[in-house]
Amino acid sequence: MSGLNYADHKTFSKYTLKWKELHFIKKNIKKREFVRWFRSQYDFIICYHGCRPKDVSEYYRKGFFPSNFPETMQAFEQLLDDTGYHFPYDVSHVLETYQGKTNRFVYVILDDEDFIDRAPHYIIYGSETMLSLAENVSPTIKTRLRNTGIPTIFHLKVPLARISDCELVSLYQQIVSSNGSMEQRRLHIFSNYTIIIEPSLGADCIIGHSHPTDLLYDQHARQYYQNKTARCCACST
Ligand SMILES: [Zn+2]
Repeated sequence: MSGLNYADHKTFSKYTLKWKELHFIKKNIKKREFVRWFRSQYDFIICYHGCRPKDVSEYYRKGFFPSNFPETMQAFEQLLDDTGYHFPYDVSHVLETYQGKTNRFVYVILDDEDFIDRAPHYIIYGSETMLSLAENVSPTIKTRLRNTGIPTIFHLKVPLARISDCELVSLYQQIVSSNGSMEQRRLHIFSNYTIIIEPSLGADCIIGHSHPTDLLYDQHARQYYQNKTARCCACST
């Protein structure tokens, strides 16, 4: 089977995908051979991870890991203490919801704009587990989360060797069903596409980061939110 052999096509990403590549896949690649073909053509895929760290540089030192529930609970209890919340609570159902998910996988997505218009809570509040704990025990903690750390989107160049076949297979359907302008096709293919990585992702995947200052709609607080901190001490890293 012939393929596209351009050296600059070794990385698959929303911002570099060309009409020619899309057309080639639609015309020549069958669903059952897609993943194998994809791996033969690309070495990396550009992904994004949204969070709200206190220290951005820590990710550059340590990389990305799933949530550690005991550590999350320790931080949560500290927040309760800080805000003067001293009532009994039971969060076992919250942790059960995330068990085997956030404490097992690192989540990345293929479209950085999803953190602006589809799921801004990752950069407004940080950890989804922590946000859920706050909502189930003391919603006032959400204000604290919203004012701690800096909204950050990490830009990652992830080796395809780190991604399992089942995470890539849906790309085929997204590509062959995409229509309209290139902009519309990019949105259709990349938006709302999550990839899970196990057990962690190294810091060497980071190719940059940004701190969006767009006006975001915070559906958890039913109000708009805008980050005012556009730079951190790791911005020149
Ligand atoms: Zn920064």
